[in-house]
Amino acid sequence: MPSDLHVIVIGGGLSGIAAALRLAEAGVPVTLVETRKRLGGRATSFVDPSTSAVVDNCQHVLMGCCTNLIDLYRRLGVESKIEWHRRIHFRDGQGRTDLLDADRMPAPLHLARSMMRFKSLTWAEKTAIARGMFAMTRLDSKRLAALHESSFADWLAQRRQPAGAIEKFWSGIIVSALNERIDRVAADYAIQVFRDGFLRSRESYVMGVPKVPLVELYDAAVERIEQAGGTVRLAASAEALEVEPDRDAESLRISLLRLQRGGEVRGDAFVSALPFERLGRLCPPELLERDPRLRGLDRIELSPIVGIHIWFDRPVMALRHLVLTSSPIHWIFNKGEEKGEEKGEEKGEEKGEEKGEEKGEEKGEEDALDGARTQHLHAVVSAAHDLVEQSPDDVAAIAEREVRRALPEAEGAKVVHARVIKEKRATFSARPGIERLRAPTRGPVANLYLAGDWCRTGWPATMEGAVRAGYLAAKAVLDDMGQDAAAALVPDLEPTGFSRLTRR
Ligand SMILES: Cc1cc2nc3c(=O)[nH]c(=O)nc-3n(C[C@H](O)[C@H](O)[C@H](O)COP(=O)(O)OP(=O)(O)OC[C@H]3O[C@@H](n4cnc5c(N)ncnc54)[C@H](O)[C@@H]3O)c2cc1C
Repeated sequence: MPSDLHVIVIGGGLSGIAAALRLAEAGVPVTLVETRKRLGGRATSFVDPSTSAVVDNCQHVLMGCCTNLIDLYRRLGVESKIEWHRRIHFRDGQGRTDLLDADRMPAPLHLARSMMRFKSLTWAEKTAIARGMFAMTRLDSKRLAALHESSFADWLAQRRQPAGAIEKFWSGIIVSALNERIDRVAADYAIQVFRDGFLRSRESYVMGVPKVPLVELYDAAVERIEQAGGTVRLAASAEALEVEPDRDAESLRISLLRLQRGGEVRGDAFVSALPFERLGRLCPPELLERDPRLRGLDRIELSPIVGIHIWFDRPVMALRHLVLTSSPIHWIFNKGEEKGEEKGEEKGEEKGEEKGEEKGEEKGEEDALDGARTQHLHAVVSAAHDLVEQSPDDVAAIAEREVRRALPEAEGAKVVHARVIKEKRATFSARPGIERLRAPTRGPVANLYLAGDWCRTGWPATMEGAVRAGYLAAKAVLDDMGQDAAAALVPDLEPTGFSRLTRR
């Protein structure tokens, strides 16, 4: 490939941002095409019309092991906007609080002491969990990969894990991490979560929570990409990829990207950072037929996430977050106290203007915010297959009931407003066999590179997976231009302590 080629990146979620930024930083002329008025894709915020508050579609968290996402935050200059939680708070159905917190022991034993103190688990359950964790550390990469066709529930059953350990521990962590139920999730994906997220290093489990609305993290990307020499075209919707015979006439190449409402974008190489279902719609039949990466797109299933924003008329939660075990609600995040009347003026119209009307479903009636100090909580349900079909009123009622059950301080407090956000297409479902449908970066159409969290990155559908896919696509383009390793992946956290001795 010539060294002055123009690259078109389609889709400005985390994957597209990552690809475009790395290419621009490497001096490649790049244009990022995004259909919305803001970058960030699924990690986004909107203006809640009732309160004028800028709220996230859903809380997005990361972990210490998300090395590439953290690298992207550094490049965007927003690293300081992430608050790190080293203590993870759990609350069970009886209101007992447990704390997951590392002590001075080397990995993988750094969390063992706090787990042994879990009041919600019996000794038999704790011993079984320790046995399960140990078995995970014994798997080499070949045996781990062989588990891909079975579900994590099957693996736990084979390891004779008691029902209590599954309900109160294994299931809760996996549903949140992989957005799928343990009977529907591939065993190797789930085991990888525990190995890389909890056992590998003392830093890997630490949880990062943005201190600002998500849009504030990704707004920075426009400036950074442009400063590095790239172009960002917002509100430009890709409609179709056009193809022409490649030089050898045997294969195809992409000739241009046609935009909705007229116009086209020409380039030498194209990086799709679109969700898989959107990419499928852009491709002409001959492309779908020739490129095996695109043939399985219609077989990838989706898994929903439901988020419920609830405003109480007074502070009801002091902790920053809570993991609920034995509840249909998986997490409660404390989004802070607010003075009702001030919000509109502070955060008003210009933030996330495009999303206010289309996002979210309001729960029935609400009381006006009267300027008293309210508290905004955000409840999250992953793999919410049952909940997505229920009415917003019903979902909000379940969330309120569970929040009150978990937070005794909420007794007597009134809910002044609630908003339910159903993300039906939140992530792909990490079912056994999914790996075969996830596309590699490169394929037979030499100038079409694929990115997005659904691509084959070795990571589940997460922000880290999306950034990895973007970096991998940038690296592939640069490699093809002869700029070797100019955009390599950031390595995983090094295993520390005894984890250096465990099998890989
Ligand atoms: C509710 C919810 C909660 C989540 N929570 C977490 C979490 O806590 N932690 C975590 O790591 N991950 C979480 N995720 C997953 C994470 O958001 C995604 O994995 C990640 O953002 C995907 O990034 P992406 O760039 O691959 O895709 P997307 O974000 O989907 O980006 C694709 C982009 O393409 C654009 N686009 C679509 N069609 C066109 C077109 N025709 N022309 C031009 N542009 C187009 C879209 O507007 C979008 O900006 C969550 C997801 C959801 C939905």
